[in-house]
Amino acid sequence: MPVNTSIEQALKWASVQLERISESPALDAEVMLLHLLNQSRTYLYTWPERPIGEEKWLAYMAMVNRRAQGHPVAHIVGEREFWSLSFLVNDTTLIPRPDTEMLVETALNLPLIQTSRVLDLGTGTGAIALSLASEKPHWQITAVDKVADAVALAKLNRERLSLGAVNILQSDWFSAVQGRQFELVISNPPYIDEQDEHLSQGDVRFEPLSALTAPDEGFADLFYIARTARDYLTPGGYLLLEHGYQQAVQLREQLTALGYESVATVRDFSSNERCTLGRWPGAHKVSTQ
Ligand code: GLN
Repeated sequence: MPVNTSIEQALKWASVQLERISESPALDAEVMLLHLLNQSRTYLYTWPERPIGEEKWLAYMAMVNRRAQGHPVAHIVGEREFWSLSFLVNDTTLIPRPDTEMLVETALNLPLIQTSRVLDLGTGTGAIALSLASEKPHWQITAVDKVADAVALAKLNRERLSLGAVNILQSDWFSAVQGRQFELVISNPPYIDEQDEHLSQGDVRFEPLSALTAPDEGFADLFYIARTARDYLTPGGYLLLEHGYQQAVQLREQLTALGYESVATVRDFSSNERCTLGRWPGAHKVSTQ
């Protein structure tokens, strides 16, 4: 590749390098170059013949090489877009997924009061809590994570997005919010089975297991949250959980057994059963475990 490599040549070269490692080589090549040049997508396609310059070309080769070794694009560029907002990401927590936008959308459509108190459990980058805050300035949102580095990252994202009203705390699930009540408890907890073979493949290898896996075939945290949230929900409050596409039936059964009403599942953009909600009636608690 010549020193005065053009945008088009750089993208083509990168796509070829990434063919084996990535399911979206052309997109990955583009996202990394856009980040490096700090330009819009339109620029790339308006000026395909423009040389990117030697310094940038060397930097781009280094980025593409890291991607070729398997590192997720989000880790290489240090950010990921979610709900049309830019979130800083790193390897201390989960990279926000498009599927989780369905969780946000479902929450926004719930019949909740204007000043609802909301708890986001295991916030990671803060993607869910901060997206909700960007849409609902009157919601009183608390976001918690057990991992100190994730809490720091979520706070950084809060400052970057100027969503200072969101309260971010280090907490092992509910431990730092004891005695408090919420109209909505929302979470994308770890839900992958610890034995899942996908954990050793692809981008997920570079994300912490603490954000991905849970015991009991991935149900342990989902069930713990469902059980415990009953003490933290207002009468008529909602629990809304993201889960694996094969976990919906068991989760609905569990929510119903725990006394939740109007239990329902929402599908994601790929039509997989992705999030399940239940309404807490405030009636007698049915204790199953
Ligand atoms: N949906 C993610 C995946 O399949 C997992 C997210 C999670 O465990 N909360 O990689």
